[in-house]
Amino acid sequence: MQKIAVLTSGGDAPGMNAGVRAVVRTAIYHGLEVVGIRRGYAGLLDGDIKPMPIESVGDIIQRGGTCLYTARCLEFLTEDGQRRGYERLKELGVEGLIVFGGDGSFRGAQKLHHLGIKTIGVPSTIDNDIGACDANIGFDTAVQTAIEAIDKIRDTATSHERTYVIEVMGRSAGHIALAAGLAGGAESVLVPEVPYRLEDVVAKLQRGVARGKKHSIIIVAEGAGSGAEVGRYIEQHTGYDTRVTVLGHVQRGGAPSAADRVLASRLGAHAVELALKGMSGHMAATHHGELTSVPFDEVFRAERKPSRAVYELADILSI
Ligand code: ATP
Repeated sequence: MQKIAVLTSGGDAPGMNAGVRAVVRTAIYHGLEVVGIRRGYAGLLDGDIKPMPIESVGDIIQRGGTCLYTARCLEFLTEDGQRRGYERLKELGVEGLIVFGGDGSFRGAQKLHHLGIKTIGVPSTIDNDIGACDANIGFDTAVQTAIEAIDKIRDTATSHERTYVIEVMGRSAGHIALAAGLAGGAESVLVPEVPYRLEDVVAKLQRGVARGKKHSIIIVAEGAGSGAEVGRYIEQHTGYDTRVTVLGHVQRGGAPSAADRVLASRLGAHAVELALKGMSGHMAATHHGELTSVPFDEVFRAERKPSRAVYELADILSI
């Protein structure tokens, strides 16, 4: 193998830059030429591709977002689009492709793998919903960002003796909500994986007020419901002064945490080494802290659910 390409796809995640840096530097260390494909599969089809010398990834390890930009590309869902992508890579002499992204991006990578390009995926999504590995790049930073916001909201909740409903991201997964809820000391955490009744949330709030609590924080995962509706329900059924904050895309930005930089650096380098060994159609991953690789088919079958034990702990600690 002499030439590889790297792209970032789907939602951006803090740490993608550290991962791209690791890919470029590891590849160059092993004597490979590297090109960067901008805007994911859209850039592949448009030919938005540039050489990535060693200095192209200087001063990015600490930056959020992705220096390669990212996009969603409907055309790549079609066989024609995938074939065009394959041909573009062949024209460029690219034999290996490293894809940073989530489940959808890996499905695209698997199509290229079947067409004959050696592809390795690197799990990168703040939602942390890619299973068969310890963690996804960006999750740790997103939780940290959520916690910082929750701590600030708690200050004002205390001052005004209010109930705050905070909606966090995570798409159809409750990982951010659960981690932020436990670390942020929330009274209730609503996640899509565990059925809940708003009557129970209200009853818990009322028990807290009865024993002298002056303020409360309820965390709602976006996949579990609307923060606005939960807030309205609580206000209507308790009369408590209730405010709603939707944290939104602040959770996607910001400098990656140390943990995300370390994870992205390890997985980016490992992805290149897997491709050099001739592997393809796999995700680079850590399992119990050790580097490993998992076939895409297994990744697609694996479902990562928030830990029930952690969910119950959050409930116990907020009685
Ligand atoms: P995130 O979890 O952050 O949203 P993702 O990788 O799951 O990331 P998607 O929007 O699902 O994000 O996928 C990114 C891109 O991957 C799509 O826009 C499309 O170009 C490509 N893709 C998704 N699914 C497929 C598929 N089944 N076949 C080929 N390409 C796909």
